[in-house]
Amino acid sequence: GKKAGRRQVVAFDPDMLGDERHRRFIERELRAALLMDELELHYQPVFGADMRVRSHEALLRWKHTVRGMIPPAQFIAIAEESDLIDKLGEWVLRRACADLETLRTPVAVNVSPAQLRRSDFARQLGLVVEEMGVDPGMLIVEVTETVPMVAGAVEQANLDAIRALGLKVAIDDFGAGHASLQYLRGFAFDIIKIDRTYIANLGDNRIDAMIVGAICDIARSLKVDVIAEGVETEAQLDMLRRAGCSAFQGYLLGRPAPLKRLAVADAA
Ligand code: C2E
Ligand code: CA
Ligand code: CA
Ligand code: CA
Repeated sequence: GKKAGRRQVVAFDPDMLGDERHRRFIERELRAALLMDELELHYQPVFGADMRVRSHEALLRWKHTVRGMIPPAQFIAIAEESDLIDKLGEWVLRRACADLETLRTPVAVNVSPAQLRRSDFARQLGLVVEEMGVDPGMLIVEVTETVPMVAGAVEQANLDAIRALGLKVAIDDFGAGHASLQYLRGFAFDIIKIDRTYIANLGDNRIDAMIVGAICDIARSLKVDVIAEGVETEAQLDMLRRAGCSAFQGYLLGRPAPLKRLAVADAA
C-alpha cells in the first residue's frame, strides 16, 4: 500500500541493535505498527498434570508490511527505552482481554520490568481490566526476575496491587537470573516458570535434573504452581512429571499460534 511504500527498506541485522540510528528506526516503525494493525498475539497452551490445557501464554508478534515477521527479542528491548513499552503493553493487555472469551482459559501476558517501574502501572492495568469487563482471575502477569527488581519498592507495590486486583503473578525464566532465591522471599506470587535452559539438558545433565527437582520442591513448600517451559521431548516431559512438576509448556505439546488457528484446533 501507500504507507508501506513510503517506508525505508533496509536489511535487518540484529547486530545493528546497538546502533542509535537503527534504534530510532525501529522505534518509529513500531509506533506506526501500533496504528497500522501490524501487531498480533500468538497463544501457546500450558498443560496441567492431567494433560489438559489450563492456560495460554500471549506472545507478541510483529508482522512488518515490508520486512515480514520480526520476533519480540528484536524489538522489545528497543521499546523498553521509551514510553513505547507502555503503549505496547497496553495493546497486549487489551488484545488478550478481548481474546479471553474465545480462549476460555486464563491468559498470561508478559510484562516488562520497565512497565513495572512505573508507579501507576497497577492502577492503569486495573482500569483497562475493568473497562474490558473481564474477570481479573482469568489474567496472569508474567514478570522476569531482574536484580534491581528485588530491591525495587515500586515494583513490589505494583505486584502487590496487581494481586489485590485478583490477577495472578508468575515469575518467568526462573533460575536464569542472578536473584532467583532472593526473589522468592521478596514478594508474594502464584506461579514459578522454570527457565527452559534447565529443561533442555534434563536428559543428560544430572545437575540440571537436581535443580529442577529442587525448584519443584520449593514450589510445593510455598504452595505455588510450577510450569516447566520449553518442553520439547517426551523424555523431558517424563522426567518433569517424576520431579513433581505440575504444568508444562513447549513445542512438544503446542507451539504458539494465532487465535484463529487455536480456535479451529479446539473445535476439531
Ligand atoms: P518468554 O516469555 O520466556 O516466552 C517463551 C519463549 O519461548 C517464546 O519465544 C516462545 O515462542 C518460546 N518457546 C515456547 N516453547 C518453546 C520450546 O519448546 N522450545 C524453544 N526453544 N522455545 C520455545 P518468543 O515468542 O520469541 O518470545 C521471546 C520473549 O519475548 C519472551 O520470552 C518474552 O520475554 C518476550 N515477549 C514476548 N511477548 C511479549 C510481550 O507481549 N510483552 C513483553 N514485554 N515481552 C514479550
Ligand atoms: Ca513469558
Ligand atoms: Ca520464559
Ligand atoms: Ca523471557
